[in-house]
Amino acid sequence: MSKLKLATIWLDGCSGCHMSFLDMDERLLELTALVDIVYSPLVDAKEFPEGVDIALVEGAISSDEDVHKIKKVRERSKLLVSIGDCAVTGNVPAMRNPIDTASVLDRIYIENASCQQQIPTMLLPTLNKIVRPVHEFVKVDVFLPGCPPSADTFYQALTALVTGQPLDVSALTRFGA
Ligand code: SF4
Repeated sequence: MSKLKLATIWLDGCSGCHMSFLDMDERLLELTALVDIVYSPLVDAKEFPEGVDIALVEGAISSDEDVHKIKKVRERSKLLVSIGDCAVTGNVPAMRNPIDTASVLDRIYIENASCQQQIPTMLLPTLNKIVRPVHEFVKVDVFLPGCPPSADTFYQALTALVTGQPLDVSALTRFGA
């Protein structure tokens, strides 16, 4: 049986969800018997490939670049999973929503900068007016909440998805493996 193609992507999040994914430890070896990780911050792949079976998305949608990426991920993936509260609800990144984007940039690059206070004009994605969860831009098939979802949650959910078993949400743990 050929392996499923698994991808993970990190949008506006802190990487904590990916760290929790890695906390599956030796159970990752079990999973890699069933899936190939074809794109991820954890592997050396530059372009999100076509024909992905399962895409795990960490982080909220905060910029034009995030919108572009999530649309491509959706187009190229059979199953899209929002992992973590930032992807599911907006969570921490959405705390900036009551503040206008010019003030956010001022705070980061001028007020809080100890030197070279200036707002970059190149290679900086344009911030969206507000941060929104992934499902407000594309169809999401599975939601794994938690900040982050625990390693046990990742393991239970991925095992179910990869083997085609029903996902028992009552068995998912929200914090700490
Ligand atoms: Fe970080 Fe929590 Fe957001 Fe995951 S859900 S990216 S751990 S803040």
